[in-house]
Amino acid sequence: MSQHIPATLRQQVLGQAGGLCAYCRSAEALLGVTFEIDHIVPLSAGGGTTADNLCLSCPTCNRQKGIRQTASDPASGEETPLFHPLAQTWGDHFTWSDDGATVIGLTPVGRATTALLRMNRPVLVQMRRYWLALGLHHPTR
Ligand SMILES: [Zn+2]
Repeated sequence: MSQHIPATLRQQVLGQAGGLCAYCRSAEALLGVTFEIDHIVPLSAGGGTTADNLCLSCPTCNRQKGIRQTASDPASGEETPLFHPLAQTWGDHFTWSDDGATVIGLTPVGRATTALLRMNRPVLVQMRRYWLALGLHHPTR
């Protein structure tokens, strides 16, 4: 669900994001699509259009997430909260494979979010390999 986001708030979110999707860490400049502002807690669940509830998201992560706040952890089958990009630290819940092309969920939150958002969809893994070969992808843990 989208809602008008005031320009100053949008600029604040963009500034904090450093041009990266808060979930899959893809760079807007490399994907060639305009990223979106995600309501981390959806409006329909009472989330606000406020700086502490907005993050930059690539269109695919945003679409996959939708209004979900939980997903199944593939390791346990347990319904698990999704990663909260502002309240949690990416590196606590995710890491990169040794080749830097695949996101690995380290925790139930990380695994559930990786699966729901399809953060290792084949086309994106292939793009990361191209970015790595060009020195444009910097997988940081
Ligand atoms: Zn993404």
